[in-house]
Amino acid sequence: MADFPNFFPYKTTQEFLSHYKAGSFENETILVKGARSFRFDEIVVFLEEKTHETVLEINLNAITHNLNFYKSRLKPETKVMVMVKAFGYGSGSYEIAKALSHQKVDYLGVAFADEGIALRNAGINTPVIVMNPESSAFAAMAAYNLEPEIYSARELKAFIAVAQQKNLSNYPIHIKLDTGMHRLGFQENQLEELIELLKNNNLVSVKSIFSHLSSSDMPDYRDFTLDQIGKFESWSEQLMEALETNPIRHILNTSGIYNFPQAQFDMVRLGIGLYGVGNDETERKSLETVGTLKTVILQIKDIEPGESIGYSRRFIAPGKMRIATLPIGYADGIRRGWGNEKGYVTINNKRAVITGTISMDMMMVDVTDIDCKEGDRAVIFGASPTVVEMAEALGTIPYEILTSISQRVKRVFYKE
Ligand SMILES: *Cc1c(COP(=O)(O)O)cnc(C)c1O
Repeated sequence: MADFPNFFPYKTTQEFLSHYKAGSFENETILVKGARSFRFDEIVVFLEEKTHETVLEINLNAITHNLNFYKSRLKPETKVMVMVKAFGYGSGSYEIAKALSHQKVDYLGVAFADEGIALRNAGINTPVIVMNPESSAFAAMAAYNLEPEIYSARELKAFIAVAQQKNLSNYPIHIKLDTGMHRLGFQENQLEELIELLKNNNLVSVKSIFSHLSSSDMPDYRDFTLDQIGKFESWSEQLMEALETNPIRHILNTSGIYNFPQAQFDMVRLGIGLYGVGNDETERKSLETVGTLKTVILQIKDIEPGESIGYSRRFIAPGKMRIATLPIGYADGIRRGWGNEKGYVTINNKRAVITGTISMDMMMVDVTDIDCKEGDRAVIFGASPTVVEMAEALGTIPYEILTSISQRVKRVFYKE
C-alpha cells in the first residue's frame, strides 16, 4: 500500500465518514465498491446529500432481473434486442448497455444515428440498429458501424448510393414492413419493388426483417394483432424466397413478448419492460423498480390558516400547516398537472401531498403530519408513487413520464 502516494486507509465506513470533509470532491466520477455488509451505500447517500441535488437512481440489478424475466418467457435461442432509444427511456443509454454487456443481448436499438454514435464513443461494440435514420446521417452511420432500418424504396436507394460511394459490401440493413401500424415500413404492394432493388445487390445485405405491433398491450385488439403477425409471416416469407436469404425475423415489443410469445420468431425487441414498467398488471408484479427519482427538503415552514401557497394562490391553508419546499419542478420533467393536491411525494415513508402549483424548479408539499427536517430526502417516484400511478392520474403513459425527466437531473447508477 505504501507504493500508492494518494492512498488513505480507514478501518470502518464510519471512520471514513467522520474524516470526510464536505467539498473535497468536485466534478469527479467516484467509484464506490464493496460488499453490502460494509454499508458503502451510506457513503453514496452522504456524497449525494452534500451536493443537495436531485438524482434519478438507476438500479442496475433490477435491469438484469427484468431482462431475465422476459427471457424466461422465450426460447433459449431467441435473440434479444434491447431498446435504448431516447437516452434509454430516460434511464441512461450507454450505462445500461454497459451493464448488460455480460448478459446475452444481441442488438441495441436507437431512434437516431446520434444516439448510436454516443454508444460507440462510450466503447459499446454490440450491433446497433438505427430505427429512424435520415439520409444525411448515412455516411456517419457507416463510419460508426451502425445498421439502418430501411422503410422505403427512396431510403434504400439513398443508402445504396452511399454504400457505393464508400465502397461498402454486404452492409447489414434491416427491412421494416408496415403490417398495420402505419408509421414506417413497406406495404404489401411495395414488396415487388423492394425485391427488384435488393436482388443481385451485394452492396447491402438483409440482416433482418421486422415489423411493429400497434396494440400488443390491448386485449380488445387481439385479432388485429394476430392479423399483423399473419401478414408479417407471409410477407417476410415472400421476401426470403425471392432473395434466397434467411435473415433474423422479429415483431414483438415488451407487451408482445408477454401476450404473444408464439410470435417470437428469431428475435424480440425489449423496451419499457426492461425499465421496470409492464403494461399489464400481473406482468408488473414480476418486475423490479429500476428508477427512483429523489430530492431533498430545502426549507420547512409553518403556515397560518387562510394563507396561500405558491403561484396564483391556488392553495389556501384550511388550518395551521407545515409545508416543505423541494428543489424540483416542471423543468425537471414533473408535470404541472401533478400539483394542486393531485400528486404526492414520499418523505420518511409517508405521503406528502403537493400543495399549490408546481413551479419551474420547485414544489411545495404538505408535511403537517410527517416527522421530517430540512435536508431529509423526498421520493418523487419509485416504489411510491410509481410511474404507472403517476401516468394514470395524468392521463398519459409511463413512457412519457420516464422520457420527460430532464437531462439536468443527475443519473446515479448502482449495483449491489
Ligand atoms: C420503441 C420500440 C420498441 C420497444 O417497445 P416497448 O413497448 O417499449 O417494449 C420495439 N420496437 C420498435 C420499432 C420501437 O420503436
